Amino acid sequence: MPSKALQISAVLFATFTVIDVHIGAMRRWTPNAIVIPDNAHRTERVAADELAHYIALATNVNVHIVTESQAGNARKAIWLGRTKCAQLPREFERLPHEVMRDAFVIKRVGNDVALYGGSPRGTLFAVYRYLERAFGWRWLQPDAGGESLTDEYDPQFPRYRMIEIPHFAIRGLVRPWAGVQRWYAKLGLNYALIPVKWGNLSGKRLEWILDASLSVELGEHCFSVYSPKGKMLCPHDISTLEHALRKLNELVRANPMVETFGIWPEDGIFVFCQCEQCGKFHPLETLDERYLRIINWLAEKALGHHPKIRIGFLAYNQYRQPPRGAKVFAKNTVLAYAAPIGFASITDRKRYQRFVHGLRKWLKCGVKRIWVYEYFNCSDDIVRMSALFPHVIGREIRMLLRTGASGLMSQIDNP
Ligand SMILES: [Zn+2]
Repeated sequence: MPSKALQISAVLFATFTVIDVHIGAMRRWTPNAIVIPDNAHRTERVAADELAHYIALATNVNVHIVTESQAGNARKAIWLGRTKCAQLPREFERLPHEVMRDAFVIKRVGNDVALYGGSPRGTLFAVYRYLERAFGWRWLQPDAGGESLTDEYDPQFPRYRMIEIPHFAIRGLVRPWAGVQRWYAKLGLNYALIPVKWGNLSGKRLEWILDASLSVELGEHCFSVYSPKGKMLCPHDISTLEHALRKLNELVRANPMVETFGIWPEDGIFVFCQCEQCGKFHPLETLDERYLRIINWLAEKALGHHPKIRIGFLAYNQYRQPPRGAKVFAKNTVLAYAAPIGFASITDRKRYQRFVHGLRKWLKCGVKRIWVYEYFNCSDDIVRMSALFPHVIGREIRMLLRTGASGLMSQIDNP
């Protein structure tokens, strides 16, 4: 699994670099200070702590963290986050906000180095990339045992300026367990799907999410969570939908850091309402069309109550048929299109065409944001294939980009 995540991570970002030379095994450069903004964001502080920690491990030098007003004209410093050294480059201006906030700059300023992102989270990503390139750090496994300090580094990095911009707005894992916390950010991932049954995210258990400033989707198969007891969600019985909306409001209030609330049908066969009026729906209406009658209502109402949250819905197995006539209420919805990434392999032309066709049809229904839910487990062939032949999975991921997917998430299960 780690290999797979690393492979994926490697093609998730585009790098634009000017003068980039590899020189290994020279003495590592150490700064005199790490400078953070006076009113540093919590994630900028985490980024500074991480930078100091890994520099100390690599060089035995403890670098002090100071604020900008304490720093004066510090020489040989690393300026972190939104300090006077942080000018967002022109390349960022045309980017959508959610891509821009994860993009970052690593640049030389005389004898100093500046690391900053489009947001504090981008700054955290910049720190890990800098530690890789200038110090030789690699993180091959999610725990401390997976860290290694290699000879692959350039003590003069960056020679000038490096910019990294993510290809995908959404990059993450489905059901990441608590142990992957910091590793997650090291790979440049930003999105986690947490099952609603894991409970209230404001609790201690998942506090790491705040540190890494992850975008979190709370959901998974949970139609029954939203249904009134003993009743189905029915587009003709508004009281059932209002019940779902109240449940959603409760979850939003209890989980202020969650951006997206997924409302997915249960795994397997979920029985939709069988009332007389629902029985009058066209017999060939797909399950997705039935599902959208509920999701569209909830998404529109939720937008009125909470303008910042998004509603996640799922195209999976029997729910993968794009609706023929129905539109998606697209202002605040995110579609999880569940398919093994192997479906995007051109080794099976028919399957590939179905896959691309399905994605494009969903986009035509008005969905603006689709993340592909890659649900094969660690033991599967596709993982071994991607570990042995990274270019294979790289091609599939690039294909997803061309098709219009805005994100990719792999399912992993706690080994
Ligand atoms: Zn009904």
